[in-house]
Amino acid sequence: MIIFQDVSICYPNGTYALTDVNLKIDKGDFVYIVGPSGAGKSSLLKAIFKEVSVKKGQLFMFDKNITRIKDKDVPYLRRQMGVVYQDFRLLSDKNVFDNVAFALRVIGNPKKEIDRKVHQALDFVGLRNKVKSYPHQLSGGEQQRVSLARALVNQPALLVCDEPTGNLDPDTAHEIMGILNNINLRGTTIVMATHARDIVDQYRHRVIGVKDGKVVRDDAKGGYENDF
Ligand code: ADP
Ligand code: ADP
Repeated sequence: MIIFQDVSICYPNGTYALTDVNLKIDKGDFVYIVGPSGAGKSSLLKAIFKEVSVKKGQLFMFDKNITRIKDKDVPYLRRQMGVVYQDFRLLSDKNVFDNVAFALRVIGNPKKEIDRKVHQALDFVGLRNKVKSYPHQLSGGEQQRVSLARALVNQPALLVCDEPTGNLDPDTAHEIMGILNNINLRGTTIVMATHARDIVDQYRHRVIGVKDGKVVRDDAKGGYENDF
């Protein structure tokens, strides 16, 4: 599903965030990306989401070489993924329904289908009773569940999460992990950057360690370990 072949990522100011990264993520995998601050975790996710360009090497996604895809093809690629951020990034002037419906409206889905898909996504995250609430009326955990519903509403093959539990208390973080595990059990591939040692140790999945822009470990069902 995702293949990095000797990928280097360089920001416009000359900073190399990843150097010569080789990585293969298969359909259905659940992968944690761990490593110290500044290691390159977010940059790896940004490469997958095509928010940074590949300086060197090749990047394949969904069986296509996307190393140099045209700007006009990026939205199509992104539609095959959902993204979840630490700070939720909900639209504060839109209610829960409209936040989740937003991307479907942009791509011109018929109203009936939007209704059905949005309610289905909100059911899945257990928030159907909050459709009319605005983000500021919701707890952090509820806001993250809205952002999960938004990410899932298009039934993407891949879910990319950048520190999804980073702003949540431990109980709420576990709730979100429960939902992520369910999403993965339904076949969706998950790539999740995280600092949450207890989460990585409790919910065992593949662990990819990044340090100084390089992959330094890759363990099936690994723990967080102490090297960071
Ligand atoms: P992590 O997510 O592991 O904390 P990042 O991917 O954010 O690491 O950062 C990796 C490196 O890239 C760091 O040296 C960071 O300072 C640099 N970096 C991140 N974003 C940018 C940017 N927009 N412009 C320049 N350098 C950046
Ligand atoms: P930006 O990334 O500049 O904030 P976008 O229009 O790309 O603006 O995205 C708006 C919001 O919709 C983002 O906060 C993002 O979380 C979400 N989003 C974008 N693309 C997807 C997608 N493919 N799946 C789920 N959510 C998405």
